[in-house]
Amino acid sequence: MKFKFNKDSILNIKEMLSDMETEICGSISYFDGELFFLDDPTADSTSKFCQIKNENIRLESETMRFHTHVFKCYPSIQDIESTLKRGRILDVILTKWGVWLMSVPSRAPVILKQPEKLVAVYDKYSYPLYLSSKEKLISLKDINSFITKITWIVNNSIQIKFKNWEMLEADEFLL
Ligand SMILES: [Zn+2]
Repeated sequence: MKFKFNKDSILNIKEMLSDMETEICGSISYFDGELFFLDDPTADSTSKFCQIKNENIRLESETMRFHTHVFKCYPSIQDIESTLKRGRILDVILTKWGVWLMSVPSRAPVILKQPEKLVAVYDKYSYPLYLSSKEKLISLKDINSFITKITWIVNNSIQIKFKNWEMLEADEFLL
């Protein structure tokens, strides 16, 4: 799928992210060749973590959703498991480093034979990201090995991409 995010929508969400203390989440809508972030009014923004993690909330778009991370600049293990489980077209995570795009091409839920292997790989390769999050550094090398190893352990059933904010604002890209 070829698409681009609407520039104003990116600026708006980026601004919200800069002074946010709680996570927000919502759906992504597609209009006239562009994608827009839609704040979910049903989400509980009073708790630290966005209630989109409560799978009972039904979003307008079941196939494209986003949420923000306040501290963690990379996907959590629950985020990855959730994307695999739901087989969504697109899961977007907005962080201070940039934006993570995760998708399951099959759209069908992916059942892992040995889920503990994913957890072990995640723990090992997210640790450098955890350290650099704390120091507010960004290492594209660590990000790339995280993506490569997670994708490998789930037999390519998930696609993960990382874009810095400038890349997201640039032209269209394939997912
Ligand atoms: Zn998350």
